Amino acid sequence: MFPDIYALILLLLLGTVSVFAWRMKRRLVDNDIRLRTIIESEPECVKLQSCDGVVLEMNAAGLQLLEAKTPAEVIGHKVYEFVCREHIPDYQALTRDVFAGQKRVLEFQVMGREGTRRWLETNATPLQDKHGNISALLAITRDISHRKLLEKELQQKQMELHHVCRVSTIGEVASGIAHELNQPLCAISSLAETCVFLAETGNHDKLMAKLDSIVRESQRANHIVSRVRGVATHKRHNKATTDILQIIEDVISLTKHYLESNTVRLSIRAEESLPRVYVDKIQIEQVLFNLIRNAVEAMAANTHGRELTIAAKGIQADQVLVELRDNGPGIPEANQKRVTDSYFSTKENGMGIGLSISRSIISAHGGRFWLEQTALAGACFCFSLPTTTGAGK
Ligand code: ADP
Repeated sequence: MFPDIYALILLLLLGTVSVFAWRMKRRLVDNDIRLRTIIESEPECVKLQSCDGVVLEMNAAGLQLLEAKTPAEVIGHKVYEFVCREHIPDYQALTRDVFAGQKRVLEFQVMGREGTRRWLETNATPLQDKHGNISALLAITRDISHRKLLEKELQQKQMELHHVCRVSTIGEVASGIAHELNQPLCAISSLAETCVFLAETGNHDKLMAKLDSIVRESQRANHIVSRVRGVATHKRHNKATTDILQIIEDVISLTKHYLESNTVRLSIRAEESLPRVYVDKIQIEQVLFNLIRNAVEAMAANTHGRELTIAAKGIQADQVLVELRDNGPGIPEANQKRVTDSYFSTKENGMGIGLSISRSIISAHGGRFWLEQTALAGACFCFSLPTTTGAGK
């Protein structure tokens, strides 16, 4: 009697366990199917890869990226058959880092089975088994070729426009340069006439002094010409330790005539003994040219006088601040956030790149470029630059 009951209970227990196990299995299979369906319908490439680079799994989107007609053309093959040679070291480093437990993002190029090159961005993460060991690299990868192409085109355009902008600035200040050059040249010609007279009268001491003055004036003319040449030629970064006030003064001497002919009153306010900066002087001059030209153009319609103030002071322990304030109409609130965007212009023939290039130049120097919100009329553009201490020089 008892054994029968035990047998029955045992049977019931076994039945419950096997139903439970079957349900669990079913659920696992369902989960697996669900996961596979999600992965397969994912529009981006999902792949699993071993530590030696063998592709273990890849969804349809991934196969399409690699121009494979069947999974066998990719699965079981090494990713390095597809990764372009110049990116292999970076991809190997990514694999190493992921198998050391890190998550990584990488942009790299692949060549598909049909020879198409694509830029991809991959987000790779370690996949752990139930013992906590990293069993595979799980990567979600998207095609960023279009974005890369746009970035390249934009960069190219900015390079060209940068050059055009410099040259057009030169055009604007050309009359100023002519004016500046005129002074040493006039001085040389009148000194030379005096020399002829002194030579004829045999006054050698005075003659020598006048000849010295001629040498000095020629050097001044030469200095002006080399400064202009520096701005006009297309030089790569050329950083050096410089005095920011010297840069401002050089720009002012080149734009002096431009400012005068537009009846702009210029005031300079600079703190004494400002710390030196480590910059590409020509590029910072370019920023100042852009800001001065914009200010002069903005004040063109002023009937109450045109005033431009350039101020330079130290801020924090390791920054200098340069501020250009004009008394033009200022910038309407609706445009304030957009003025430094590329190609934003309210001028009939404006290119809308001056401010965006200026901002890029300053941020490439580790500084900040901004439009100051001010209660005063007019516009106030500011930029900061790290001092030699701030730049670690
Ligand atoms: P562009 O001078 O070719 O228009 P910028 O990038 O130098 O290009 O300037 C973008 C816009 O910012 C100008 O069109 C103008 O609307 C505005 N702007 C720049 N500087 C000033 C200023 N000092 N006062 C008023 N508006 C300004």
